[in-house]
Amino acid sequence: MKKVISLLLCAVLLCGAVIPAWADGGCSCGFSPIIYVGPLGCSPIVRDAGTEEEQTLWKIDTKFLINNLKAVLPAIGKALLTRNTDQLGDALTAFVHASFGDLALDSEGRSKENVTTPELNVPQGSRHGPDSDYYFDYDFRLDPYEHADRLHDFIAQVKALTGHDSVKLKCSSMGGVVLSAYLDKYGHDGVDVIICRCCPLLGTAVAGEAFCGRIELNATALTRYGEDAIPYLETGFADDLIEGSLYALLECLRGVGLIDGLCALGEKLIKDVGAQVFDQALIPIFGTFPGIWAFVPEAYFDDAVRFMKVPAQGGLHDKIFAYRRAMANIKANLTSARNDGVRVCLICGYNVQRTPLVTLWRSTSDGTVDTKYASLGATCGNVKEPLDDSYLSALTDRQYLSPDLMIDASTCALPACTWFVRDWLHCNGNAGIDELFDLVMTKDEVSVTAFEKFPQFLEANDDADTVTPVTGAPDARARLKSFPSFLNLIRFLFSLIKRLA
Ligand SMILES: [Zn+2]
Repeated sequence: MKKVISLLLCAVLLCGAVIPAWADGGCSCGFSPIIYVGPLGCSPIVRDAGTEEEQTLWKIDTKFLINNLKAVLPAIGKALLTRNTDQLGDALTAFVHASFGDLALDSEGRSKENVTTPELNVPQGSRHGPDSDYYFDYDFRLDPYEHADRLHDFIAQVKALTGHDSVKLKCSSMGGVVLSAYLDKYGHDGVDVIICRCCPLLGTAVAGEAFCGRIELNATALTRYGEDAIPYLETGFADDLIEGSLYALLECLRGVGLIDGLCALGEKLIKDVGAQVFDQALIPIFGTFPGIWAFVPEAYFDDAVRFMKVPAQGGLHDKIFAYRRAMANIKANLTSARNDGVRVCLICGYNVQRTPLVTLWRSTSDGTVDTKYASLGATCGNVKEPLDDSYLSALTDRQYLSPDLMIDASTCALPACTWFVRDWLHCNGNAGIDELFDLVMTKDEVSVTAFEKFPQFLEANDDADTVTPVTGAPDARARLKSFPSFLNLIRFLFSLIKRLA
């Protein structure tokens, strides 16, 4: 009897899997399916997939990288000893080519035939609801409009599978680039919710500066970056001790002036060999990715085109230039979506020290994407600082001013549906923010005044996995207080030494 029941159950389950729930015409659950548009690197890029020589090129395979480095280490050592910068440049160029060279696109902006994304998702099954999504992934190197075309088909398939005539688009980081191209080409018909989580909608200064060759190693930025990123290291055990030791080490290095020294050395190295590595390795590889060009803010674009030696015509040129239209139109496209009743939520981080390699290291960000670019135009103070007194005293409408005086959201394209999270590292998971997304996806009205728990300015509390409203300036002593006291002693000693020196 049990056997019969289990057989029957199997049959029922099988039918359930084959026949979508809406077989009688349309799903009545009231919750349209979520499509999650993933970030950069959401799908692995593989050389010679399925063969014995298969090699993952992205995400970077550490073993592959180390092997490539081993191959050039003797040459690097020799070049450093003899202070031969040409040889050093050659060795570094060889290393970059061995590790990333096969990722380069051709003059039409196409991948090498043996370099592919073999695991791209196809929508499957009809399961949908607040806790389940269809994952849209893509090859981040390619033209975002190619992804837009694929997303268009993907949306149609999800609608057919679930019996809904609309979908929710939830985009993380580079997912916003795909969204921008999609809205520009296909509009927002059949989309009822748009969420942009840390998306470089107007680019990111790091890409702009790097593609213009503006590299700067700054000691303060490097230390702050280390400190802001350390809590997210997955050390796995004895976290406090390791974190504490790293903080102390960073502080010691800064205290005795070593970081400045290292930075100066690094800068000299960049000056000496940077031009060669840029010309022979970085430009011919990374300069051929229209997907990375999509991160270059408008203000940098013309300079970057010159610096990166973009060909004057051809398929690659056209693809690199095409995305400018999506970026130029994103404010209008999202505004029109919201005016037509699409529930829009833009959310971005601020007050995290950004990648310390560029001259604009003071620009407040989530560590990767500048707050002003992710928020479509917020006016921001420098990282860790409030807006200028002159700006604040001239500001008459303070409705969209953050309580810590760091952000004025009134200059955003969509100030009423743009949230800011202080100390939120780029795309870090946070249950509190997920709770906000649940409200955005289920409530009729979406705005920064609609949800009591989620006003416009929030603060990420990573230990508690929550966000709380910002009430004032960050407590500079809070971090210090949380350190073990012996580390504070070390800090004190080093600050003393520094003052005496
Ligand atoms: Zn449904």
